[in-house]
Amino acid sequence: MAPIRNSAVIFAEVPTGYPEVGKHLKYVDDRTIDLDTVEAKGGIVTKNLVISIDPYMRGRMRDPSVKSYAPGFQLNEPLVNFFVGKVVKSDNSRFKIGQYVYGMGSYEEYTVHPKEATDTIKILSEEELKLGIPLTAWVGAAGMPGQTAFHGFYDIGEPKKGETIFITGASGAVGQIVGQFAKREGLKVIGSAGSDDKVQWLQKELNFDHAFNYKTATAKDELAKFDPLNIYFDNVGGDQLEAALDAAANEARFVECGMISQYNERDAHGIRNLMQIVAKRLKLQGFIILDKYKDANFMKDFYTKVPKWIASGEIKIKEDVTKGLEKAPEAIVGIFQGKNFGKAVIQIADDA
Ligand code: NAP
Repeated sequence: MAPIRNSAVIFAEVPTGYPEVGKHLKYVDDRTIDLDTVEAKGGIVTKNLVISIDPYMRGRMRDPSVKSYAPGFQLNEPLVNFFVGKVVKSDNSRFKIGQYVYGMGSYEEYTVHPKEATDTIKILSEEELKLGIPLTAWVGAAGMPGQTAFHGFYDIGEPKKGETIFITGASGAVGQIVGQFAKREGLKVIGSAGSDDKVQWLQKELNFDHAFNYKTATAKDELAKFDPLNIYFDNVGGDQLEAALDAAANEARFVECGMISQYNERDAHGIRNLMQIVAKRLKLQGFIILDKYKDANFMKDFYTKVPKWIASGEIKIKEDVTKGLEKAPEAIVGIFQGKNFGKAVIQIADDA
């Protein structure tokens, strides 16, 4: 077989503010791969079907010599993130050709995963595939963002029936799942999002008790209408975190999941009422879900429950699927402008 195209999205330049299409993130279609001769190096070669877009990718768009919890992207190499692919070549007894796998992959059509890169790759079992949830869901509610919601809400939020929770970024990949877990557990659920359509969906489809558009109403005014908060699930930081501190009940739990409002800001203003943490005896806890990838019990619990809840419709999922790697740079930049409605994901290829 002759070499075939292996187009990719390349990290071309380190951004200082918002990343730009064609400048910092570039689609390139002049790369090739020869599937007959390429070596799997003790690992596998995958045809990539689906790859996730997640806000933490902004943090990886830095000079790779700067240390952080996830490695920086390599300049002039494809972006890296959670993917679902099909094994097309295997040099490793754990994998068979035709299996579907989930793990860290690359923004390209085919990827060589050498042996050391395969340790964390999960094989989607026959039983899991039989659930019939879309492949995109394995990088969403049944993947990293779902795990983030599951760990953050249950382990850090310590929810109790009848309590009040406030979720920011509520229509996004993590927020929509947290909201549904909270309804399952009998909490009063308040959410905020950045458009009226998103707000309507939260109330009508997900049965949030209240939702508001943080661009046209302030969290301070909206939260004042309700009981003090027992849990704040923070996806955005900034003004809404400040409002939640003022609206918190004594001994409330703050699940510090993310602060997307700050990711592209170099001169973000600080939180001015941190004294509330002392006065109200609050617990604020940050976490990085990647740590839980080493916790086999957590992963077993997650994969036994959540994909089934999705398949049965107990947990609804809303995805924002962009078809084609060539449109990926725009879709990545779009999540920092609220353009995604639901979990943002790229469909690289059809499952054929
Ligand atoms: P997402 O919500 O699906 O997508 C990002 C959304 O953030 C956008 O659609 C937009 O929605 C909102 N947004 C963008 N800029 C904003 C701003 N300046 N102020 C307020 N909202 C803004 O993303 P996700 O995957 O669910 O992630 C949500 C948060 O969880 C992020 O902070 C992410 O970094 C964090 N996270 C943390 C972990 C962890 O391990 N700790 C793991 C996964 C995700 P609107 O239209 O509502 O503005």
